Amino acid sequence: MVAKIIDGHAVARQVREECRERVAALQARGIQPGLAVIIVGDNPASQVYVANKVKACTEVGLKSTVHRFAADTPDREVEALIRSLNADPEVHGILVQLPLPPQFNVRRVLETISQEKDVDGFHLYNVGGLVLGNTIFPPCTPYGVQKMLEYEDIPVEGQNVVVVGASNIVGKPMALMLMQKDATVCICHAKTRDLAQLTILADILVVAAGRPNLILPQMVKTGAVVIDVGINRLPDGRLVGDVDFEGVRQKASYITPVPGGVGPMTVTMLVHNTVQSAERLVPAEQLAEA
Ligand code: NAD
Repeated sequence: MVAKIIDGHAVARQVREECRERVAALQARGIQPGLAVIIVGDNPASQVYVANKVKACTEVGLKSTVHRFAADTPDREVEALIRSLNADPEVHGILVQLPLPPQFNVRRVLETISQEKDVDGFHLYNVGGLVLGNTIFPPCTPYGVQKMLEYEDIPVEGQNVVVVGASNIVGKPMALMLMQKDATVCICHAKTRDLAQLTILADILVVAAGRPNLILPQMVKTGAVVIDVGINRLPDGRLVGDVDFEGVRQKASYITPVPGGVGPMTVTMLVHNTVQSAERLVPAEQLAEA
């Protein structure tokens, strides 16, 4: 068996096209959806991520505004900006680019964002909503994985899912989202004993550990769906995921490449969440007038 490669760019294109149409419909009613991005310090990776987010917004007609702060800015100053953005009717999504400098209380900053504009889905309210199955904004990376599974019509209900990685931004929300879809979910992490004993049971294996070559062919069931969220830069400059792509490809039914797999979906789902936020925040009477 040679796995079908799930093309993240193709799925992302489809989602962005839908977003573009929804933005156009909002603009026709006089509403310009907008995203505010806050970046503190000059972390080069963060600069690249923010530039990509701005580009994706522009592509679908979203207005994005970037607010830049020096690395030594007091956290209260950033929180004051967030409160003014919460009250700004032209802003429908607020995103704080992580990581923040060490003097920041990250949780307090994230909780300052209105839950109604929390398009990254990191506010406690939206995290709690994930547990209950009614979050407003699912976090972008696992949401992107869910869209990829839907795009390929891969059933989730009743499937054995193993998620490798238990972070707050990928592993944990991924597990909750697939459990909500009635999968049987197991979460593994760095302290898991005998990882292979668990991964071999997976019908769907989602890997987000940040460890190149963590998943080898002998750890994967024949016919499994393998989603590689990992992004690792090797000493020779190559970008790879957490899965031995060439080896596992010979055994899996579907596999995502790195780059070109989950990566393009993360930014796309941010755009999607911002459009959805704008639709939610439009007063009903304004829609009725249109
Ligand atoms: P993290 O460092 O916060 O969490 C990593 C998780 O993996 C932890 O739960 C840890 O216990 C687990 N882990 C580490 N080594 C392990 C091992 N040997 N066996 C089993 N579990 C192990 O990382 P994160 O922020 O969740 O990101 C994970 C990876 O996904 C990184 O490579 C990151 O770059 C990538 N990522 C990609 C996207 C995307 O858009 N494709 C988005 C976010 C993160």
